[in-house]
Amino acid sequence: MKNVRVRFAPSPTGPLHIGGVRTALYNYLFAKKYGGTFILRIEDTDQGRYVPGAEEYIIESLKWCGLVPGEGPGFGGEFVPYRQSERKAIYQKFALELVSRGEAYYAFDTPEELDFYRKTEAEKGNHNFKYDNVTRQEMKNSLTLPAEEVNRRLDAGEDYVIRLKVPENETVTFEDLIRGEVSFQTNELDDKVLMKSDGMPTYHLANIVDDHLMKISHVIRGEEWLPSTGHHVLLYRAFGWEATMPQFAHLPLILKPDGKGKLSKRDGAKFGMPVFPLGWKGDTPEDNFDGFREFGFLPEAVVNFLAFLGWNPGTEQEIFSLDELCEAFSIEKISKSGARFDYDKAKWYNQQYLHAIRGETLAEMIRPSLESQGYKVSADYLAAVCDLMKDRLTLLPDLVTQAYYFFTDVHTFDDQNIVKRWNAESRPDFEALTTALADAPGFDAASLEEVVKNFMEARNLKMGQVMPVLRLALAGTMKGPAVYEMMEVLGKERTVGRLQKAFDYFDTVK
Ligand code: GLU
Repeated sequence: MKNVRVRFAPSPTGPLHIGGVRTALYNYLFAKKYGGTFILRIEDTDQGRYVPGAEEYIIESLKWCGLVPGEGPGFGGEFVPYRQSERKAIYQKFALELVSRGEAYYAFDTPEELDFYRKTEAEKGNHNFKYDNVTRQEMKNSLTLPAEEVNRRLDAGEDYVIRLKVPENETVTFEDLIRGEVSFQTNELDDKVLMKSDGMPTYHLANIVDDHLMKISHVIRGEEWLPSTGHHVLLYRAFGWEATMPQFAHLPLILKPDGKGKLSKRDGAKFGMPVFPLGWKGDTPEDNFDGFREFGFLPEAVVNFLAFLGWNPGTEQEIFSLDELCEAFSIEKISKSGARFDYDKAKWYNQQYLHAIRGETLAEMIRPSLESQGYKVSADYLAAVCDLMKDRLTLLPDLVTQAYYFFTDVHTFDDQNIVKRWNAESRPDFEALTTALADAPGFDAASLEEVVKNFMEARNLKMGQVMPVLRLALAGTMKGPAVYEMMEVLGKERTVGRLQKAFDYFDTVK
């Protein structure tokens, strides 16, 4: 496929929902697969819904996921600016062009007049008032008013909007790459406002003008935009741009974990899981939340998880790097039906990526959070701890919650198990073992294993009598990595010191 140009076109009305990230991802994968361009366009023409910080959030989220736009605000490109609020004059020109082609018209009806009309219609039992090819004949617009009257109003600077003149009795059909043929009856479509009275375009006009000017080849977006596509096709027609109209692909919904309805912002708190890529600090408690990043997910795992929310490669392979996804991706394999947001699967992906990560890399990721908790450790030590622990982690913070004892003294002991495994007679054996460990020729896991095994043999002790006690002394708990490896990472000084101190404590546990 040649000249693939796709855009991710979010409105900065708040933090970007994880569904938006999936839309961005599919656009990115499609662009890369065909050597095309992934464009970010900020659709901020609705000033009333603008939320400060949302654009920065969107860009940070894309960067965190590795979905860096080839063109966009701050990324440059042939069609700058990529922020719609900076392209106002362009839309005005195109709206007027549609008026002069007879495809759009001025409408002078005030909001009060429209309200009044809506109410009167409702009283007559018609609750679905639409400004359309029937009702427009009774309204104040450039189709019903004489030309001089229209000019007088325009010259006097009266408020007006520009509306699309939807044709009567036609069927608009387009081929959706995911859903197949989709049709709309024009008699059911309203005469959408294209230009508002404040001179700002609506989403519909700005979106079509920009997709055309920016030479967008494919529009890949959420299913919620499918109902607008009838109007969009009519707009391409009205401009005479049908020959270069992009192809449409409407993505399936993302469903709640229980499969019942669309995943919503509130599901995050309800199910105790992230539904946004990054954390957000809003004005209300509900508007303050952590994202996948703060929960401790690796971006590669999130990307892999999201790729499979509505798409699959048709093989058994589940682990894909971003590059591999670019290679394997195809629109034909996107499903039509909604995709259930399976948080356990997201965690499974994170585990897989944590298993595969190098200790050193994990150490760098985890260091800031360790330091903020007051733990100071050397790079080599932290890398060794990470190597030992990574197979046991699901989320990054698990390292500290499960293995804090690598960073500070043991502060919580499993007393029930101590009582079961320790008694007054145990002490001489374990003191002798501690000495044997202190005298070990090397402090690597293999040498330590030999020392402990020889010791057990000489004293006729069993594994079950020795290993749990060592583990409880070093970590306070029965869970954790292999004891010899734990000792190797802790090193001789910490191991020996910890054992002696622990035995004193064990003697006091009743
Ligand atoms: N601005 C729209 C949004 O917020 C864009 C929809 C589209 O991609 O056409 O999702």
